[in-house]
Amino acid sequence: MSRRILRIRQSDVHRICSGQVIVTLASVVKELLENSLDAGAQNIEIILKNKGLDLIEVRDDGYGVRECDYSGLTAKHATSKITDFSDLNRVETFGFRGEALNSLCSLSQSLKFTVITKTADQVFGNKIEYDHEGHIASITPTPRERGTTVIVVNLFTSYPVRLKNLQNNIKKEFAHLLTVLQSYCLIPLKARISCKSFSSKGLPSVVVSKLATGSLKENIINIFGAKFAQLIEPFNFVSEKLQFVLDGYVSKVFPDNSGRASPDRQFLFINNRPCELPKVSKAINEVFRQFSGSAYPVFVLHINLRRDLCDVNVTPDKRVILLHSETALIDSVKNALYDLYQSSHGKFQVSSGGPPLSEFVGKPISCRTIDDLEDPPTLAGDCERKKSLIISSQKSSRCRGRRLFRGARAVSREKRVVSSFLSKTLPNENHVGSDSTDLGALSLQTAASPCLVGIERTVKVDIAAMRRSVQGVAEHGIQKTNQKFSASIRVEHNELAESELSRTLTKDCFKKMRVLGQFNLGFIIAILDSDLFVIDQHASDEKYNFETLQKTIILQSQRLLRPKQLELSAAQEGILLANLPVFRKNGFDFVIDRSQPPGRSISLSSVPYSKSTRFDSDDVEELIFLLSEAHGSFCRPSKVRKMLASRACRQSVMIGTALTTKEMETIVGHMASIEQPWNCPHGRPTMRHLLDLTPLLHEEDNSDF
Ligand code: ADP
Ligand code: MG
Repeated sequence: MSRRILRIRQSDVHRICSGQVIVTLASVVKELLENSLDAGAQNIEIILKNKGLDLIEVRDDGYGVRECDYSGLTAKHATSKITDFSDLNRVETFGFRGEALNSLCSLSQSLKFTVITKTADQVFGNKIEYDHEGHIASITPTPRERGTTVIVVNLFTSYPVRLKNLQNNIKKEFAHLLTVLQSYCLIPLKARISCKSFSSKGLPSVVVSKLATGSLKENIINIFGAKFAQLIEPFNFVSEKLQFVLDGYVSKVFPDNSGRASPDRQFLFINNRPCELPKVSKAINEVFRQFSGSAYPVFVLHINLRRDLCDVNVTPDKRVILLHSETALIDSVKNALYDLYQSSHGKFQVSSGGPPLSEFVGKPISCRTIDDLEDPPTLAGDCERKKSLIISSQKSSRCRGRRLFRGARAVSREKRVVSSFLSKTLPNENHVGSDSTDLGALSLQTAASPCLVGIERTVKVDIAAMRRSVQGVAEHGIQKTNQKFSASIRVEHNELAESELSRTLTKDCFKKMRVLGQFNLGFIIAILDSDLFVIDQHASDEKYNFETLQKTIILQSQRLLRPKQLELSAAQEGILLANLPVFRKNGFDFVIDRSQPPGRSISLSSVPYSKSTRFDSDDVEELIFLLSEAHGSFCRPSKVRKMLASRACRQSVMIGTALTTKEMETIVGHMASIEQPWNCPHGRPTMRHLLDLTPLLHEEDNSDF
């Protein structure tokens, strides 16, 4: 039985950091779930309507609320969990500030904050409605079993700005809610937790379902599936010096793919409380990366330490915890993890179920891989890709002689300036041979023209020298170049170049850009105001074709001889069922048998049709994960993305093809509709800033006189 709810002494109220506890959708669910766990509930059911915007309901079978506590329940700073500040050191419950329910009254629609509750010694329960201030508006006797149901309707209606913000970011908010729910399900407590979400049309889907299992491993399997559990290993140790015990699981360093592409499954707990410890997380990530090829490990780690060695009373949501000797703790975690990985390093796992050797014998060797087709030369100066360049140049019939810069038909002042500038700056002699050394700037490769078929030429263009030359003109007292672009065209500067481009160029800029001509049969030179850009004709056309395929294509599927039963967690199953059209668009189909227990009711019946790629249940799981992160009908598993990328590549204009102005304008115009126009699907840069022409244009102006 819980203790009486009493007001916290006024003098202590200000010491307990106050403020709004409820800022997000996830925080509503977190606070209500914590209250149910604090009330000793064994069964907690969460119901969301329209992702929680319309209704959030949490039902539990905990102690219930006594009649004398009905008004204290929603009073500000009233709690049954502590009575004064000194109790904080001993507090074992999630809550202790007495703020959450009071905040919820003011955030939900007036008279729509409702509690239905019954204690063990009551015969009948009561339904209590509260007004905005948390005062009781009505009490109605209502039958129910022991426990409490809290219902929040139309959250944030009295805070229009917050509501709008929530509606605009609902997918992200919902994903965050899912992570918060998962973290509570990973606490080794023997409570059953389930969360069902109903769409605005009333269609249900299971968000999370955790059985009444107590062990961490069982909880992990419950939430993320049995397959996931095979990729992690136990990580436990005791630090007597620092008086803490750590136990949990981390990604194995073998196999290589045991980590993940994002840090989405990293959970830390202090004394069973889910929390954020960014420095501890960073340290674990660093150690993992020293041993593994994957980017981010998975970890679920519980740290138990003396309560007086940590402070949870830092932020209203109590997710930030200050540790007494954080640096020492981080060092010891790092060392222990290093030892764990060191001891498993060098051990190779022998797969017993691999394909038999006979399968490899007699198979034709395919020499023409996708890569042969996919790798034209790059703006970043990758020098190893000469073959495809020659092939594509042979296709070109319009190229006559050596013309590096093909100007647009309309003669413009800028074109004249660029043309004369390029001819002055470029070397007179091409280097003949197969070597191409990086000049530390841009190394553009050019194919031979048809009259020189078979001889490879590399034209080296030193952009740094070009820039210096422009700068030289500028320093002769005419005008300073702009400061918008500072990145050079180098692999190391890719990130900086992309951020400069996305900061400076809007989609409209591509419409305003004027094509000056084609350079080296591979690059479009375009100008916007006084800025000159170089655009990789293949990479940008490829990106446009890729995004169009991503959005529109419905993949053909092929039926499996026998449907394969999937082993999914209840949450994964819920996501799959809620997104069947997305799976079908990607060529997957299923047989659903609702008589089977949750997690085993779906079998894979069709996979995408492909001559060279094999699809199976892993790809279904990947798509489930992608959908849990970002809902949307454009989600594609990585193998499908790869297929579409190579299809887009083949459809796109090759390097070595002479283009008309109109064709170039189409390519540049298409960039306005590309969502992420700075890289092709294989990651190659599509465009870079070349020069600021201001000084040159001024120089021309002056020489006109
Ligand atoms: P806190 O959890 O910090 O005490 P809350 O505003 O969340 O503050 O809750 C106020 C009080 O209401 C709690 O101290 C608890 O006694 C009571 N309470 C809230 N939810 C429940 C519940 N589900 N079952 C029983 N009592 C509850
Ligand atoms: Mg609480």
